[in-house]
Amino acid sequence: MNRFSDLRKAFPFFGRQKEGEERIYLDSAGTSLSLGCSIEAMEAYLNDYRANIHSGGYRSSMQASEAYESARREVARFIDAETPEELIFTAGTTDAVNMAANGWSRGQLGKGKAIVVTQAEHHSNFLPWRRAAQELGVPFRIIPVTEEGGIDYSKLEEIIDADCGLVAVTALSNVSGEVVDMESVIARAKACGARVFVDGAQAAARIPLSVRKLDIDFLAFSGHKCYGTTGCGILYGKRKLLEKLPPFRLGGGMVQWVDEKKAEYASLPARHEGGTPDIGGAVALGSALHFLRETGMEAIYRHECMLTKACTDALAPLAGVQIIDVTSRPHCGVVSFNIEGVHPHDAVTFLDSKGIELRGGLHCAHPLHTALHWNGSIRASFGIYSTEEEVETLIREIKNCIRFFR
Ligand code: PLP
Repeated sequence: MNRFSDLRKAFPFFGRQKEGEERIYLDSAGTSLSLGCSIEAMEAYLNDYRANIHSGGYRSSMQASEAYESARREVARFIDAETPEELIFTAGTTDAVNMAANGWSRGQLGKGKAIVVTQAEHHSNFLPWRRAAQELGVPFRIIPVTEEGGIDYSKLEEIIDADCGLVAVTALSNVSGEVVDMESVIARAKACGARVFVDGAQAAARIPLSVRKLDIDFLAFSGHKCYGTTGCGILYGKRKLLEKLPPFRLGGGMVQWVDEKKAEYASLPARHEGGTPDIGGAVALGSALHFLRETGMEAIYRHECMLTKACTDALAPLAGVQIIDVTSRPHCGVVSFNIEGVHPHDAVTFLDSKGIELRGGLHCAHPLHTALHWNGSIRASFGIYSTEEEVETLIREIKNCIRFFR
């Protein structure tokens, strides 16, 4: 047993499977299984010190506030932010992108300048920026993908120029699994004076990310894809940028003072956290990130790259199977493919009947599928609990699937 199969014990899901009815879960890009420690952290909040945060001088509220702020400190350590005040708890990646894009569209950052995204973006890092560009009346530019479905880096210089204010890019594609060359994209953006917004939804739990080393201006990710729970995510922003970004969510908890005419917003991070947050989710996320940090993100990256390679190596020679082939580039955690003559949904139903859970469809990435002229794909995605044996079973059942539909 290697260290990663040992890790399965940390996930209650596996212990609760009925003998003979075990499922192989291969949709970690959709949502990951929850760690026992994050479930326990949430339970402790719900059962032992349930109270709203920052709202009273009584014991449970102080305990809830301390647990919430301690989770924020854990997130800061996890992504190597300078201070915890640069971390805003959100409802997830989508929420974080919308918050940033709505603030951006109010024009205090990147005035009059184009917004750039890539063709490989999940809709969550595409639509909010397109609307922001429309509202600001600035160009919306798209870095295309190559025929293989990877980011076309040869277009960076042409598309990112001195007229760009922001480049919004995923760090890891939720369809191809490409680990985007962040250094090159960020270097080009910075050379042109543009800010960089990184969608870390798929990357956060798969690759080591240091916002300081990479000089990332904004980063978003979701707790439920990092072995936490649904309903909680993160918007990171450099302090001076978050201070300039007009708050999107107005309400309780984000002001110093309000009268009939004006409001004085609170300092960071509260100014961007109007309303009661997902306190239990934040505490669960802090616990999950602590677990990942202890496990080691380099080791996690290597483990998932190993599984990804095993999967693509076994799929590539199968007649009638076409992979989104970014295998010549760093590629981690996600493999999407098609089987000639078999609709992705039919393949997924077949695999489900064999106890394998994965996803078919367009994966909220229509522009990428359109560029490839694919009307959908089957996606296998891994987590820290995934094993080589599971990949072998997947490949065996894909072969059976091909036979079944021929
Ligand atoms: N960005 C990427 C790359 C994703 O894969 C996803 C979800 O699959 C999202 C954004 C949206 O995340 P959420 O639904 O947690 O807001």
